[in-house]
Amino acid sequence: MMSKKYWEGRSAQREIESQLIASKYIARMDKALREAQQDILQQIEVFYAKYAVENQVPIELARKYLTAKEVQAFKETDLERFRELSLSDNPRYKLLLNEISYRTRISRLEGLNAQIEMRMIELYGGLNSLQQHTYSGLTEVYQSTYYHTMFDLAKQGVVSGAIDVLTDRTMKEILSYNWSGLEFSERIWGHQEQTLAAIRKELERSFATGRSIQRTTKAIMEVTDVSRSRAETLIRTETNFFHTNAAQQAYVEAGIDQYEILATLDRRTSAICRGQDGQVYDEKDYEPGKTAPPFHPNCRTTTIPYFDEAEYMEGERRQSANGLIQSMTYEEWYDKYVK
Ligand SMILES: [Zn+2]
Repeated sequence: MMSKKYWEGRSAQREIESQLIASKYIARMDKALREAQQDILQQIEVFYAKYAVENQVPIELARKYLTAKEVQAFKETDLERFRELSLSDNPRYKLLLNEISYRTRISRLEGLNAQIEMRMIELYGGLNSLQQHTYSGLTEVYQSTYYHTMFDLAKQGVVSGAIDVLTDRTMKEILSYNWSGLEFSERIWGHQEQTLAAIRKELERSFATGRSIQRTTKAIMEVTDVSRSRAETLIRTETNFFHTNAAQQAYVEAGIDQYEILATLDRRTSAICRGQDGQVYDEKDYEPGKTAPPFHPNCRTTTIPYFDEAEYMEGERRQSANGLIQSMTYEEWYDKYVK
């Protein structure tokens, strides 16, 4: 039973499972993104309804200062609403709120931009935000892969007995691991800033060139759709990274010191991953992007533990001593050895 075929089957299946977990969180993010998109479009519609002349808001009208009464209304309603959001410990939000609260002169366009920015901060950093969904999704991916790999190893007789539980603290440490230059949470904030800048540019363009509300809406939707596909790629790639990383942790804890690259070979497989398929590396040389997946954005390649012949034999002996595990389901094993 201790065959390479077994591990190829298991490992490919586990990668698919991780991407299914990711899909669940991507669907939640989509919903949050669509709601924010609708809110932003509505704010722009209100702006046009208030200030448009023949379905256009000339730039000089957009740059007009709000009257004292309008400033007061803006501070009392819009800012109050955002003060109540669960963002109080977010430094970006605090900065914006403070900056705008102390101003006495605010142009119409600055007011609109501030409203959009606050909605974007909520989308990316509040409760139920993209950052929160990413964190929860990657935690689930990591835990699922780690425990399932341990279970697969137990079934093969490579490990036995109790398994260390992954605590919240351990997860926090693992998820802050910076493997590609920036933590994933920082990357998400990078998306927020890019999207916000793109929205502002589109609004400026609309007012400067006299675009109608219909054409402005279309442009804003395009910009926010880009941020949606960017977020999906980020989650897919991070999922592959944390999936591989969890499997590595399981291999190391099982005393396995080498692993083999396993690429799903189909028409979608990249040239890099075709070339990596079947390569064997030492655990001590594990380096995402160089000796381990992800090798590129949206990578689906995974790893399998590598055993030499002697270890296969030893594994088979241990397995027969551990025969009880063979008949256990994952849930039975988890209840007995992890909890
Ligand atoms: Zn790949």
